[in-house]
Amino acid sequence: MSDIRIANPIRTAGILRRYGLFAKKKYGQNFLIDEGILAEIVDASKISDSDLAVEIGPGIGAMTEFLCERAGRVLAIEIDDRLIPVLDETVGHFENLTVLNADVLKTDIGAWARENAPGKSIRVVANLPYYITTPILMALLEGDAPIASITVMVQREVAERMISGPGTKDYGALSLAVQYYAEPRIVLTVPPEAFDPKPGVESAVITLEKYDKPPVEVPDEKLLFDVIRASFSQRRKTLANGLGNSPDIALGKEDINRVITSCGWDERIRGEMLTLSEFAKLTEMIYTELH
Ligand code: SAM
Repeated sequence: MSDIRIANPIRTAGILRRYGLFAKKKYGQNFLIDEGILAEIVDASKISDSDLAVEIGPGIGAMTEFLCERAGRVLAIEIDDRLIPVLDETVGHFENLTVLNADVLKTDIGAWARENAPGKSIRVVANLPYYITTPILMALLEGDAPIASITVMVQREVAERMISGPGTKDYGALSLAVQYYAEPRIVLTVPPEAFDPKPGVESAVITLEKYDKPPVEVPDEKLLFDVIRASFSQRRKTLANGLGNSPDIALGKEDINRVITSCGWDERIRGEMLTLSEFAKLTEMIYTELH
């Protein structure tokens, strides 16, 4: 055990050197070397003793250390087997920690939690590997694990897409998917200097507080997301065009135009102007038309 934080730049460099480790680009490895930022992330996650903290990609344990000090239990899922002996040395002394050497996209977090931490609410906290940000977030949001919140470091541009609304350049399918399941809030922006090695982009920490129930009701969730995807598939085209060209929506041009006008919109309206509630209304009309 050491009094110096794992995230201390000199300690991080020493660990990497001693184990002969180089950061693997294919796993999106950028290790956090700023203790202040780690403390802010863990504070924003509101983790307490009654929570199971799930960390995706613990790396050499910089964030894991903070989580183990605050959470009742910690599950850390790391794909890179070179890092398992490192984690054993840096954070292996924490009795509330379990490290799984696995791919998070193939891990059933809900099943693990039911078996090993029943009664605890799940809070996901991570400095995400940027190459799979969207698949990880969608799996967490759509999955059946009872997740209370997700607090993650992502590319700044992706965080901005998650919080944006209609009529802005960043608004798209990701904004709507996130806002259907959770309330997103950017907590802080983070410069490349906070990492070793430095990523080529700016980063941001975002918190997604999951809703108990989505803010809009639809007859068919899959159809809602088919409609959203179709509406944004061709950026500068009209909503009617996007829906008409979608293989998932079996309606002809005339039916689509009728649905759009009966929603009270101009036939030339673009998908990027619609709010989540308007997408829900559109989905309901399309559903009725299809059934
Ligand atoms: N948490 C550490 C930190 O903040 O210093 C490391 C963060 S680094 C940006 C991302 C981590 O995710 C790496 O340790 C990487 O090996 C791991 N990782 C990448 N893909 C993964 C996957 N599919 N499942 C689990 N871990 C993954």
